[in-house]
Amino acid sequence: MRRSWLLGVLLFALGGAGPAAAQFPIFDAHIHYSRPDWDAYTPERVLSILAAAGVRRAIVSSTPDDGTLKLYEKAPKGIVPFLRPYRSRGDMGAWHSDTGVLAYVEERLKRGIYRGIGEFHLSAADVGAPVVQRIAELAVERDLFLQAHVDDAAIEKLLTLYPKARFLWAHAGMSSSASTVGRLLDRFPKLWVELALRTDVAPGGTLDPEWQAVFVKYPDRFLVGTDTWITSRWEIVRDYHGDVQRWLGQLPREVAEAIAWKNGERLFPQP
Ligand SMILES: [Zn+2]
Repeated sequence: MRRSWLLGVLLFALGGAGPAAAQFPIFDAHIHYSRPDWDAYTPERVLSILAAAGVRRAIVSSTPDDGTLKLYEKAPKGIVPFLRPYRSRGDMGAWHSDTGVLAYVEERLKRGIYRGIGEFHLSAADVGAPVVQRIAELAVERDLFLQAHVDDAAIEKLLTLYPKARFLWAHAGMSSSASTVGRLLDRFPKLWVELALRTDVAPGGTLDPEWQAVFVKYPDRFLVGTDTWITSRWEIVRDYHGDVQRWLGQLPREVAEAIAWKNGERLFPQP
């Protein structure tokens, strides 16, 4: 008896020192299932990878959008479809001045399943382009989020030019500092931020104090995300979320739960 008790204590201690087991269910705000992924991973396989990583629901956008539909058809409760305005990777650079992209977006939106438009890339100089303007109007009319992979100058301009639209800022601007993100959250109530690829949040596994302060100040405004932007990313989804769980575990429980999944569930309730 005594020996098995000891063994239990030992295993518990070892478990505590090793990689943390999944503590929080995850709402992943940044997944793509784009054309090159389709041959490497079936929709079933992708869904099982997400489930194994603790992902309960995920925002998915794909190039082309058919990738998102493939997952949504298999798991309508687990997939939050965003409409990406790229028919192919070639649209990434100039979609903002292509009326063909606008026609594609308007046609696809007729499906009525989408909860957002994006992820799209945009520079500050192109924020006012007529195609962007119309897409922002469509988002407001249909109560859709806009997921923007842009720097802090461009997100500020988007929020200023389109004050009625709700924005999900991809990668927290990729290189924007925690204090810049905090200042923007303070100024713009329609801004939410996802943290895909932001390894600076917890370098070496330890939560950065400046990010921690912003998370605690604005717990309702952050979401986590993976970004499967190339096919090889599907191999690391589980490890990536292991790292996310580790820094979430260093936050006050309520803050961690909000960022892990409650914000996603609140912003994108099951239809
Ligand atoms: Zn992405």
